[in-house]
Amino acid sequence: MRIKIIGVVGAGIMGRGVSLSLAQTNHRVILVDISSEILDNATKELREYIRMQRLFQNSDDMPSPGEVLDRITLTTNYELLREVDFVMEHVTEKWKIKKDIYPKLDDICLKECIFASGTSTIPITRIASLTNRAQQVIGMHFMNPVPLKPVVEIIRGHHTSEETVEKAKKMLGQMGKEGVVVNDSPGFVSNRVLMLAINEAICLLEEQVSTAEDVDRIFKSCFGHKMGPLETADLIGLDTILYSIESLHDNLKDSKYRPCTLLKKMVDAGLYGRKSGQGFYNYSD
Ligand code: NAD
Repeated sequence: MRIKIIGVVGAGIMGRGVSLSLAQTNHRVILVDISSEILDNATKELREYIRMQRLFQNSDDMPSPGEVLDRITLTTNYELLREVDFVMEHVTEKWKIKKDIYPKLDDICLKECIFASGTSTIPITRIASLTNRAQQVIGMHFMNPVPLKPVVEIIRGHHTSEETVEKAKKMLGQMGKEGVVVNDSPGFVSNRVLMLAINEAICLLEEQVSTAEDVDRIFKSCFGHKMGPLETADLIGLDTILYSIESLHDNLKDSKYRPCTLLKKMVDAGLYGRKSGQGFYNYSD
């Protein structure tokens, strides 16, 4: 069987994780972002992640960082996506950014190529409308950190064909993951609930009802969650949380998705969580 070449667009938290999971399951990856600086950071972070993985899993059988990274071509040139069978898009959660990417992919990519969006909230049917291949557009909502999360929410858009759903499931199988298929709606299942809970937890902090530590402790010790909502927000990235809540607000026109003022203020201040070193907690040591 020919080795599949997968395009990943966006080399941030999710694009890196997806590229790593693909490369570690013997796929070749073309990873596209907008600047060489971002791609250099992605290479450094991927190398470090693989090194730590090998250390903690205590396995010399795992491929070395060099071997895995050799399978990933990092580039700012979209034209390299001409040869890929599948694109997994993971750019910033903003409609105004995503809307320019899909027509470009539609022009460049093979006509059989499938487009899987990793969006957290934007309806897949809306994304598909930007292309001339709506039946081949699907949502593949990976969870963070991608290498550690075995289940992916698959979103069937209005025009997504059963063949595309099957190919997406097969693709996930090749990555050692499994998909749960849901129908299209803003935020799907996971983020319709999660984003609301996180936003509300931030409101509680803003109203000084509790501290970040105690909000998280209640969820961990009372409900058995592995992480509390504010720790989860720091892991996801507060910028992505804000854009997701804004997108739910825009798409559902329901005031319950109004972003909390403290969230906006933290994003304005550059406090994005783990990725910037400071969010509700400090990660700079
Ligand atoms: P991020 O901010 O870490 O990375 C986004 C990347 O997209 C950046 O590197 C940026 O330079 C790049 N980008 C922007 N415009 C681009 C363009 N025109 N072409 C190529 N690259 C471009 O964001 P993230 O957390 O990785 O999120 C990416 C997507 O995945 C979003 O849709 C988000 O909602 C979704 N998602 C995020 C999480 C999470 O936990 N962070 C989980 C599931 C899904």
